[in-house]
Amino acid sequence: MFNLILFGPPGSGKGTQSDKLVAKYGLKHLSTGNLLRQEIADKTPLGLEAKSFIDKGQLVPDEVVIGMVDSFFELHKGARGFLFDGFPRTAAQATALDKLLALKETGIAAVLALEVGEDELVKRLLNRGKTSGRSDDTDEGVIRKRFAVYKSETSAVADHYKAAGKFKSIKGEGTVEDIFSALCTAIDKKMA
Ligand code: AMP
Repeated sequence: MFNLILFGPPGSGKGTQSDKLVAKYGLKHLSTGNLLRQEIADKTPLGLEAKSFIDKGQLVPDEVVIGMVDSFFELHKGARGFLFDGFPRTAAQATALDKLLALKETGIAAVLALEVGEDELVKRLLNRGKTSGRSDDTDEGVIRKRFAVYKSETSAVADHYKAAGKFKSIKGEGTVEDIFSALCTAIDKKMA
């Protein structure tokens, strides 16, 4: 298996680039944000619980998210690899992911981190909020809260994979095609 983490703050382009990467490399896309939004749309108990956190810009509890990822693995046992987008977001999630992958006798090949300045991120998110229907993209207070959570909790994920020598920064500003091409170059090197 070949497993990648696409890392970066809210609005850094993970969703856009994930769609292109899974099409090119035949990986299964695992976006915990998308899975949570689907649970909310389906009005499941998990969705109801998650919504209260998402609307405030807070993280959904680790055990909820890890359980969801575990179920996703069960559903996609034959996958040739996964592209993780928006997961892991805490040190505990990173440790849980490493363990779940070890059970499958595999691991993370690389963590590619999209680097984008905060002013550009706010601009992109407010713009996305006009059309995405995502309530967490329309309120600048909620957006700033998500950045604060990213710095306080999610930066530990970067440290976790830096220590393992798997972390690589990629410039996340420029055209979609230029960023995609930089990601592909990094992935092709890892695959070689
Ligand atoms: P995203 O679409 O990845 O930006 O996620 C939207 C929101 O869903 C986040 O602000 C969190 O509230 C929640 N969420 C998504 N992924 C996770 C995760 N791995 N851990 C905790 N909360 C998450």
